[in-house]
Amino acid sequence: MRAQSVGRFAPSPSGPLHFGSIVAAVGSYLTARQAGGRWLLRIEDVDTPRTVPGAAEGILRTLARFGFEWDGPVVWQSARTDAYAAALARLDAAGWIFGCACTRKEMADSALARDGTRRYPGTCRAGLPPGRAARAWRLRVVPGLIAFDDAVQGRVEEDVAADVGDFVLRRADGLFAYQLAVVVDDAEAGVTEVVRGADLLDSTPRQILLQRLLGYPTPRYAHLPVASNAAGEKLSKQTLARAVDGADPARVLADALDFLGQAPPAELAEAGLATLWQWAIDHWSMERVPRSRVVPAPAYG
Ligand code: GLU
Repeated sequence: MRAQSVGRFAPSPSGPLHFGSIVAAVGSYLTARQAGGRWLLRIEDVDTPRTVPGAAEGILRTLARFGFEWDGPVVWQSARTDAYAAALARLDAAGWIFGCACTRKEMADSALARDGTRRYPGTCRAGLPPGRAARAWRLRVVPGLIAFDDAVQGRVEEDVAADVGDFVLRRADGLFAYQLAVVVDDAEAGVTEVVRGADLLDSTPRQILLQRLLGYPTPRYAHLPVASNAAGEKLSKQTLARAVDGADPARVLADALDFLGQAPPAELAEAGLATLWQWAIDHWSMERVPRSRVVPAPAYG
């Protein structure tokens, strides 16, 4: 018997939901619901300095207005530091982490990884320089290819040691890094299907590496295209993407289905949310999602 499918949506409360975030929510929701599985909601407020007061509550309201129904209580990362600390302690006990004294300025000359972060040059790997104290904690990354088959983007391979190097698990400000938090949370919730935006594709090999070191199973991955504005920029708070909380949910949902290649019949947007959702759950097909990292959605830019 196939284990029950568990999906999740994990927005960061750094602003209101825009069209791109709704697309990710719709894709993960339909994947879980079509399989008769559960769909969990997690507010990713681990990065407290980036959290905007009231944004999480606004996101929950918007999701409810769109007719999303999540299973179980909402998980807040800010309440889960004990779980992250326990995972870090396990890695420490196995010799996988080391303290790092480097400042951002000291690493300014390092090469850039695919996602624009600095590749760690290995300065503190063999021990802290004399007189320096650990600021952050990094994973000791061993060379080797991490590969997985993404349901939308196809085969992805990366040598994390070569491309990223020893990445941060606990930051200099004491906060746990997103990479650690997401892996611990998904594993503890039993998530089997990670469906999210392709902007996170480059993080996935790091997350798979952490799953292996912590003895967690690796979920299936599907990285949906992200929506871009007319200038080709990913819709985000930085590009001043419009919030969808005041918009007509049925219209936005129909547009999200269209964006995801599902070709909803035109009259469905007029039929009301419940009919639209039922059609979407019945007809959802990951095969129809455009095999691309970015797709323009100029109307929502
Ligand atoms: N919190 C991340 C974001 O809003 C998503 C993380 C994930 O889905 O793994 O971009």
